[in-house]
Amino acid sequence: MIVVMKSGSDDAAVQRMVSRIESMGLKAHVIVGIERTVVAAIGEKRNGERQTLESCEEVEKVVPILAPYKVASREAKPEPTTVQALDLKIGGGSIGVIAGPCSVESEEQILSSAAEVKAAGAKGLRGGAFKPRTSPYSFQGLKEEGLKLLAAARDATGLAVVTEVMTPHHVELVSRYADVLQIGARNMQNYHLLQAVGETGKIVLLKRGPCATMDEFLLAAEYVLDQGNQQVVLCERGIRTFETHTRFTLPLATVPYLKERTHLPIVVDPSHGTGIASLVPPMCAAAIAAGADGLIVEVHPDPSNAMSDGAQSLTPDAFAQAMDLSRKVAVALGYEM
Ligand code: PEP
Ligand code: MN
Repeated sequence: MIVVMKSGSDDAAVQRMVSRIESMGLKAHVIVGIERTVVAAIGEKRNGERQTLESCEEVEKVVPILAPYKVASREAKPEPTTVQALDLKIGGGSIGVIAGPCSVESEEQILSSAAEVKAAGAKGLRGGAFKPRTSPYSFQGLKEEGLKLLAAARDATGLAVVTEVMTPHHVELVSRYADVLQIGARNMQNYHLLQAVGETGKIVLLKRGPCATMDEFLLAAEYVLDQGNQQVVLCERGIRTFETHTRFTLPLATVPYLKERTHLPIVVDPSHGTGIASLVPPMCAAAIAAGADGLIVEVHPDPSNAMSDGAQSLTPDAFAQAMDLSRKVAVALGYEM
């Protein structure tokens, strides 16, 4: 249920409502909106709760949330959520671009990537230090050394660092260096990991699992939100289909579909979504046309020698062109980029 407080309700009234909801054995999530504050009351439904809450003086109305994802739903919060780390703004009309190599490989590689993507207009730097690889024999990442190099690249450029955390054991370590914690596609339903990143309060970039439905994706986001962390960004990165010409199939209808159902911002990853560098720039522009709030793009100074995902990585020049193309679409639609 959503308890809509009367406009002008002060913190004390909201706190009284939280205590009341908790005393009924329900969990209370305060969602502060522009117009008014609502308190989501979550838990098993019992008779009479709605009437009891509705009879409270400071309550305007109580409405049931029909969606299985409660805090993520538009019913709970009609206005869009926006997140910001340094100059990286995602949502509410601002398109945030995150770019960089698949993996952090060396100091020179990450520093030059950071300088190039910044010059082209990216505000976030991506780079994996802990890499989820299909084969245990593939490069697994530079681990903490990679995190230190990312932090050095942030110091040099001011870009916000976006990097993956693969296990709850590493959440504290990765949080020390990252501005945004990435949950990889393979871990979308790792519920203990989702709870652990939820506890940090850091921005979480949640990638869609390649076989996950929309409801599963939003319920995964709900695990983070349920810890009281409202800073979740959804990322469409392609799904598995019968098609083999592209690495995954990138369904851009995900973007307007999710916009109807959730207030959370949505970014698109055309690099993993296609697996082919030449397809990435047009899909960046198409994602923005579809209403995406941001992009995450793999860029490498020398893609043919990349230690991971070279075939889908743009050169810095190709990335700059992709940004020019995307910006034209963004400007035409009235977005800031
Ligand atoms: C990545 O961003 O490099 C990555 C491993 O992505 P995904 O989890 O979407 O496969
Ligand atoms: Mn990659």
